[in-house]
Amino acid sequence: MLLSASLALAQSTDWTNYGLTPEETRYSPLAQINDKNAGQLKLAWSYDIGKGGGTQEATPLVWNKTLFSITNWSIVYALDAATGKEKWRWDPEVNQDTVRSKVCCGVANRGMVVYQGLIIAPIIDGRLVALDAETGKPKWEARVSWPQDNYTVTMAPRIAKNKVIIGVAGAEFPTRGYFDAYDAKTGERSWRFYTVPGDPSKPFENPALKEAAKTWAGDFWKLQGGGSVWDGMAYDPEADLLYVGTGNGGPWPEELRKSKGLANLYLCSVVAVKPDTGELKWYFQMVPGDSWDFDSVQQLLLADLTIKGQKRKVLMQANKNGFFYVLDRLSGQFISGKPFAKVTWAAGLDEKSGKPFVNKEAYYGDQLIEISPSTGGAHNWPPMSFNPSTGLVYIPGAIGSSSTFAIDRDFVYKPGENNRGIRRGAPTTPGGPGANLPAVLPPPPAIGPEIGPDTPRNVLVAWDPVNQVERWRRTGGGAVGGGTLTTAGNLVFQVIPDGHLVAYTADKGEKVLDIDTGLRGGMGPPMTFQLDGKQYISLAGGTGVVVGPAYPPNTPLPAPTANTVFPKLLTYVLEAR
Ligand code: CA
Repeated sequence: MLLSASLALAQSTDWTNYGLTPEETRYSPLAQINDKNAGQLKLAWSYDIGKGGGTQEATPLVWNKTLFSITNWSIVYALDAATGKEKWRWDPEVNQDTVRSKVCCGVANRGMVVYQGLIIAPIIDGRLVALDAETGKPKWEARVSWPQDNYTVTMAPRIAKNKVIIGVAGAEFPTRGYFDAYDAKTGERSWRFYTVPGDPSKPFENPALKEAAKTWAGDFWKLQGGGSVWDGMAYDPEADLLYVGTGNGGPWPEELRKSKGLANLYLCSVVAVKPDTGELKWYFQMVPGDSWDFDSVQQLLLADLTIKGQKRKVLMQANKNGFFYVLDRLSGQFISGKPFAKVTWAAGLDEKSGKPFVNKEAYYGDQLIEISPSTGGAHNWPPMSFNPSTGLVYIPGAIGSSSTFAIDRDFVYKPGENNRGIRRGAPTTPGGPGANLPAVLPPPPAIGPEIGPDTPRNVLVAWDPVNQVERWRRTGGGAVGGGTLTTAGNLVFQVIPDGHLVAYTADKGEKVLDIDTGLRGGMGPPMTFQLDGKQYISLAGGTGVVVGPAYPPNTPLPAPTANTVFPKLLTYVLEAR
């Protein structure tokens, strides 16, 4: 009895999973730091992450008085959580020169998981490595994907029933999306779930893919299809269901996938599978026949809500496509969905099925048209959080974004390269890439929040998921960067891409903290832990010298300038009282 009580206590003060709990609420019961004293937070210690340039997207983990995190180039480090003193550091020695050109969407790593004394780390070049948490020595290594096949691994692995679950990124390149389960003790692969069907002349890997193949046409499989799995997952231990979000189609326009009017399962969906076998139990497709890069991989958040007097076990998602979805997570049944951002691609969702009423103009052709949200999305990878006391979900969002689209009629499939299949452009910029394109068509009618010329676009939205309405909104954050954390101290913490750490009261959104961390850009989400009676807030951020995918191999990196801010891991604590 005593033992289990102390175990529960230890768990509540640590942070061992990406989203804190299998339900991925990012709600901490810690309340030493609260709405009355948060303004007194001061830096406890900082750690120089190293020179790898780019965004720091990882959520640090804390277990056994040690803080573990990982850099954008997948270097793992372990620090004394009270002092920041390095315990060990492990470099997977990724061949950055060759891998860089295979990274479709940024050199990133969103984090790791702790499991029975192991630190399980995804490596951008396709490896999954388990390290001894005490020593940092590798215990096993698995191969999830190969960079030669245009895949990268950027998401945090999750644990479901002693299995490590991980997916692959890369759907802007020719890839066939999948996610895998590995035995957490040995690294042996248990199963793989492809999100889109393969060559129909060969046996389908499972009955779900046979069904999915009916929603594709022609020789689609030669273009690989897309449907990458690069962020959102959650696990309901009671229902024993694992939930996984799937990405966009490749190429982007459904017409180039020869799929006009077809759903293209299981793109832009949430799939629920049994963790023992990878068997599909249900799916819900947010965007049938996606043509707008509306990955549905954003965070999946599980909670029990009372809706219309009934207790419902729900799964929630603030989708890139601008709608906030509430689904029954046992059946996959649609409960509700409303726009939390400006939406022009669809006029709304069917109340029964949740299927979108896609505006016909949104199916773009030769003429450029502006569609909201943008391909960056109304919400992207930065975590939202759910506070059971306020009943609110805190979404880092872009509520007025848009992108222009036109089909690239000259599209030819390029193996191993970007295959978006669209022409972009900014027609309002003279001489810009869109300058020679036909005039832009008027955008379809908008739904969602009223966006005036002075409305801040990058915001924190406090969303009531039961009534599907916004309760309050604050400036700052945005769809990329701006991750959140909420606590029992009636607080919402948020990082701002300009390097600030802010906190609001969770109920009313009153600002109680604003720290300039000194970092610039590339802010990872905040997390919290308690050690020796003190509560801490930690985050990683900063960019260093950034070079893009097109950076020539075997060329020395540009030298840092006087203004270069290198990445750091920062930890804050209440000032001594
Ligand atoms: Ca995408």
